[in-house]
Amino acid sequence: MDGYRVTPMSRKLIRDKAFQWRKTYGMERTLYLPIPSIFEILPIIYPELKTLIDPDDSFSRGYYAETDISRKIIRLSESTYNRACNGDGFSRMTVMHEVGHYEFLVNQSIKCARRVEQDDLKPYEDPEWQAKCFAGEIMIPKHLVENMTPEEISINCGVSLTAAFYQYNIYKKEKRQDKIPSF
Ligand SMILES: [Zn+2]
Repeated sequence: MDGYRVTPMSRKLIRDKAFQWRKTYGMERTLYLPIPSIFEILPIIYPELKTLIDPDDSFSRGYYAETDISRKIIRLSESTYNRACNGDGFSRMTVMHEVGHYEFLVNQSIKCARRVEQDDLKPYEDPEWQAKCFAGEIMIPKHLVENMTPEEISINCGVSLTAAFYQYNIYKKEKRQDKIPSF
């Protein structure tokens, strides 16, 4: 998805969409998202979607998963799937990152516009930023973690400590400035 410009979305909009997504499946108060079950029912949530668990060596180096927009496929590497099932935070978030791509680029048919130089891309119109933002907002929902430390977030939400700190700092910044930063 590198180097494509898509319809801009602010963090606030993505937060609202993440909340709605959770609410649709009765998970608005669930701290620890059941990622393996979510992955299993994705083709029910999105009837046109096909999910695959493929051997690690069928992915380019450094890639663990991919969403093929035109063929409507989410592919996970075998090791990512297994690690997600074992509760690894990074792999759990990888699954929701791909769901974010699918949700925004296929389900809501946001236009995958022109190819542009990465340097010209604003974060909020970058599909990678949007998927990353969705994964962070849906796995670490502000309304449930507001008084938690990053360590508590990591344990309770099942995310990596890095992701917990990242989201924690965003919420802290919002508190200080009393507004949601656009990215
Ligand atoms: Zn991505």
